[in-house]
Amino acid sequence: LPDRYRGSEKSVWVEYIQLAQETQPLNLGQGFPDFAAPDHVTKSLAEACTGENVLLNQYTRGFGHLRLVKALSQLYSKVIGRSIDPATEVLVTAGAYEALFATIMGHTGPGDEVIIIEPFFDCYEPMVRSAGGTPKFIPLKLVKSGPGPISSGDWKLDVNQLSSMFNSKTKSIIVNTPHNPIGKVFTQEELTVIADLCKKWNVLCISDEVYEWMVYKPFKHIRMATLPGMWERTITIGSAGKTFSVTGWKTGWAYGPAELMKNPMTVHQNCVYTCTTPVQEAVARGFEFEMSRMDSPECYFYSLAEELLPKRDFMAKFLSEVGMVPTVPEGGYFMIADWTPLANKVDLSQEKDKYRDYKFTKWMSKNVKLQGIPPSAFYSEPNKHLIEDYVRYCFIKKDENLQKAAEILQKWK
Ligand code: PMP
Ligand code: GLN
Repeated sequence: LPDRYRGSEKSVWVEYIQLAQETQPLNLGQGFPDFAAPDHVTKSLAEACTGENVLLNQYTRGFGHLRLVKALSQLYSKVIGRSIDPATEVLVTAGAYEALFATIMGHTGPGDEVIIIEPFFDCYEPMVRSAGGTPKFIPLKLVKSGPGPISSGDWKLDVNQLSSMFNSKTKSIIVNTPHNPIGKVFTQEELTVIADLCKKWNVLCISDEVYEWMVYKPFKHIRMATLPGMWERTITIGSAGKTFSVTGWKTGWAYGPAELMKNPMTVHQNCVYTCTTPVQEAVARGFEFEMSRMDSPECYFYSLAEELLPKRDFMAKFLSEVGMVPTVPEGGYFMIADWTPLANKVDLSQEKDKYRDYKFTKWMSKNVKLQGIPPSAFYSEPNKHLIEDYVRYCFIKKDENLQKAAEILQKWK
């Protein structure tokens, strides 16, 4: 293995997907819906690969199928409030993963520092390292503001610490809002602090907004690229998998000013080169349809969040009832919870892992048949201890499966 991948051999996904296969738990681990995507989206895919236009089964334009980049530019021009050029400012990728990869690879070299907020979607760290960069980590801190349940908004950025991390070597900062796994939806004030530092130090902001439509009232998703002076220095990343509940389609995108997009485009054309045509066609049609009803609550961009809200509340309730302490998310479809009030119910001596959250989640998959994800996977090695008391559960599941999860926990406790 080349040096650039040393230390990145382990993946929580590889490990926990295998664990689920072996132990057959109720799976609230890896994030994916267990219910059907909107009909019009899946029908569009069937039509795209069987219809009269047989060329939809052949290669398409490398930086993105024309119909899809047009739809994306139309959508984001509208929500960002400026005209986005589909030819030079949008790149379609193999999932948001490849959008992150192309952006990080295309904008990071040896000696560059990249600021990453902890917890972070785990692939950021190996991507920065394999690009030759040095990740610099800053953990969110739980600062509970009042009585009642903990909210993802109680997980705060330490502004002084953040400011002290920017220097002349800082190349970029990766921001994820709505956040996986905390569910934090960054506020205008928080984004402004980050934006001001980016402008002061001439830093690129890589804004991972894959959960952009999954935000719970009264919270609002604010796009980094809409902040004053930030379009010029932001690449925003999105995912059709999240937007349309089709994670298996692995189609994502990056958009930003042409000057910044040249680099990820160069990476993309020299690795993946072009993504699946029929899937891009179907996603394009999906966007066209949803854009035609963006003024209606039926639009999937809003209806999915409406559907998820009671699931979130139900999960927060049953986790609390068994004694865990959940952080109620403002966005996204994950919930972290402190499991340690139940520590006397588990026998962690049976597990060999280094961190307690790994021991807990493995023991639970095997013995209680409920799977979650150990959130220390989302921290750098020196900071993993900060989150060992927590587990992450996914709530984009059928009500009956959430009900089963509640019953499993109640029976066990
Ligand atoms: N970023 C975040 C924060 C995610 O949770 C995910 C989900 N895997 C991705 C990026 C990657 O998305 P995709 O499945 O489209 O590659
Ligand atoms: N984003 C999803 C999660 O956090 C999927 C992760 C993955 O497939 N690597 O669970």
